[in-house]
Amino acid sequence: MKIEADLHTHTVASGHAYSTVSELALAAAEKGLKMIAITDHGPAMPGGPHLYHFSNLKILPDYLHDVRILQGVEANISSDGEIDLPEEILKQLDFVTAGIHAHANYDNTDMEEHTAATIAAMKNPRVMMITHPENAYFPVDMEAVVEAAAKYKVILELNASSFDRFRYGKRGDVGKVLEMCRLAREYGVPLCLNSDAHFHLDVGNIEPLAEIIDKAGLRKEDVLNTSAEAVERFLAEKKTVQ
Ligand SMILES: [Zn+2]
Ligand SMILES: [Zn+2]
Repeated sequence: MKIEADLHTHTVASGHAYSTVSELALAAAEKGLKMIAITDHGPAMPGGPHLYHFSNLKILPDYLHDVRILQGVEANISSDGEIDLPEEILKQLDFVTAGIHAHANYDNTDMEEHTAATIAAMKNPRVMMITHPENAYFPVDMEAVVEAAAKYKVILELNASSFDRFRYGKRGDVGKVLEMCRLAREYGVPLCLNSDAHFHLDVGNIEPLAEIIDKAGLRKEDVLNTSAEAVERFLAEKKTVQ
């Protein structure tokens, strides 16, 4: 499986990532990607960027090294399902993702609460993708999450870093992600394969997902970011309901 767009990457602005926007874009160009989303963590992440970081993203060009640059965020879902950026900033961004992160406004402990918070975040029409819903540390009721993703037209991510056992341990739950793939196909929910790169050499690297893609029997048409054009179409459609 080959992706044209990597919709989850971090720059130095995240506070625990180590490359710049230019380095990410150049690496993407070298790997033949057509599009990347810059999705630094929301301000609730310790060491994360201030809100001004996001309101000033507009100074970036739409293309760098011939790669389409989507100005985005990986917002933090809080215990009550809110996200950590206000509407006036969210509406300026091309691509809003949201995920649950430890130490970032989140202290729920059970599956029912993780599920409720994730679904509440999806109800925000600005939220376009849920990052790492297969996270073993915050297990969700996958059927409820996929059903909500279908209803609110939200992408569910397969996060390559989650399955990079050498560097991230066992963050990704294989059983959950396979269940997610099966249900997403059943409910017609778009999936994305993303690197979650925190260093430019990892941009576009979805190698840790190879076995899962195979086991889940994913086809090109199940995966939105195999086509940058399909991503643009999804964004345009989402704008109409915001
Ligand atoms: Zn994340
Ligand atoms: Zn991330």
